[in-house]
This record gives sequence, structure tokens and C-alpha cells, in this order.
Amino acid sequence: MIVTIWGSRGSLPSPSPENSLYGGNTACVQVSQGDTLLVLDAGSGIRRLGDDFPPGITKVDILLTHLHLDHIMGLGFFMPLYLPDMTVNIWGPTSTKESLDTRLKRYLSPPLFPIRLQDLPCQPHVFEINHSEFEIGPFKIKSAYVCHPGPTLGYRIENGRSVVTYLPDHEPALGSSNFPNEPDWTSGYDLAQGADLLLHDAQFAKEEYLPRVGWGHSSVNDALKFAKLAEVKKMLLFHHDPSHSDAKLRTLLKGETERQRFPFEVGIAAEGDVLELS
Ligand SMILES: [Zn+2]
Ligand SMILES: [Zn+2]
Repeated sequence: MIVTIWGSRGSLPSPSPENSLYGGNTACVQVSQGDTLLVLDAGSGIRRLGDDFPPGITKVDILLTHLHLDHIMGLGFFMPLYLPDMTVNIWGPTSTKESLDTRLKRYLSPPLFPIRLQDLPCQPHVFEINHSEFEIGPFKIKSAYVCHPGPTLGYRIENGRSVVTYLPDHEPALGSSNFPNEPDWTSGYDLAQGADLLLHDAQFAKEEYLPRVGWGHSSVNDALKFAKLAEVKKMLLFHHDPSHSDAKLRTLLKGETERQRFPFEVGIAAEGDVLELS
């Protein structure tokens, strides 16, 4: 499978000369194999994927982790939605309050957006999932709720040879005085266990996290502890804070890797990264 990062920023698009290396677009990751194309989240990065959409593909599955704006703001700018012959499936979390369809329409309708979800030429199909297992093409997909405000899913995607886990907004240390805990008591562990590649929330420096406990995000330090607990092979820090420049991100990671050695490869997710897992 090929994993392409179209947006690795969190919370708000943050284009600036200081962010040009890791990018300013919000969460969007393409996972593809052959004719099967999955899109993880529809942040502002999805626009470039739409403009660069591979020719000959007639079906796309968009897997939303949750409906915070930084994960859906690009949806209306995704070119394949305007192709009548394109099959578009949108998957996302169940809520006890409103259907996924209704919640998406709150954004994709006036006054927030000029075109209504139901008027899009592709006529998208909307599917609600929670703790679910399903297959799309060669991929076996597992979704589960993870620790983040509001109904939020993480995803584990396997193709029989490799595993990628996507936890862009995740605070597994919340409520724990001794993180990491036992695996069975750790949010997201089942999704990440043994993954070849983990994309994980690493929004804050340690000192930034303390006054923001409960906001749903992790410090770089906690993200690395989680990756170690899950025994992943490679981890990329994801959901970078809008205020973190390229230099700040590098300093944060360097501080951690100088303090301790990690039994896995670790890096910083950058817009434009293409990773082949085999
Ligand atoms: Zn987010
Ligand atoms: Zn969020």
C-alpha cells in the first residue's frame, strides 16, 4: 500500500514560510493500492488530492475520524465530488444526538457553504460506523472510538502484508496519573498494536500540554510513549500545532530523541510525504 500525506497540520490551516517544510494544510492522508483509494479525513489538504486525482479511478472512500472543522473543511473543495460518474462513500462516527448525514449537512449547506451535500453531482453515500470491521477492496479496516472530545474514531488499515494506523486527534494519557497504562486500558492500543506505520497526534510540547489537558491532544512525549507501548515499527508525529514552525517541530523531536532511544523509527509527518509499505 502507498500512504500519501496531503495535510499533517492540526486545528487550523497554517501556511507560512516558517512552515513550508512540514506544511500548513490540515489532516488528509491517502491510502491506496491498485484501483482502491481511501482518504483519511477531509482537511484542507484534500483539495490538492482532488486536483491531482489519479486518472481512471471511479470510486473513492473518505473515512472521517470526526467532524471537527479541521477534518472536514476541505470536503466541499474535493473535485471528485463534482463528477456525476464518481462513486463517493463517506464513512464517519455514529453519534447519539444526530445522524452523520445531518451533521455533515450543517457544514455543507448555506450559510457556511453554497452547495448542499444532497446537491453534489456525485450523490455521495454516507455510512455510520463505530467499533466496526469492514473491507474496501484489498483493505481490511478496523475502526474504534478513541479518547477525544465528541465521537471520534481511529482507524487500522491492513492489506495482509502491512498495517497503517491513523490516530490524528488522540489523548490517551487523559485521566491517567501514570501513563502509559496497561495496554488493555489504553485508548487506541488495539488499533495501533504492532503497526508498520503509526500517524499519531503530537500537537503539544510537554509544557504546552499541561494547561490543555482534556482538549483531546497529546504531547510529543506522550505520543512517543504510546507508540512504544504499541510496539509500532515506525511513527510519524502528526496534527502539528498551528504555532509550531518547522524549526520548532525539529527541536521538539530532537529533545525527545536526545533524552532517550526509541525501539522504532520516528519522524515528523510532512505534507507531500509518500511512503510505500510492503
Ligand atoms: Zn484535529
Ligand atoms: Zn478534533
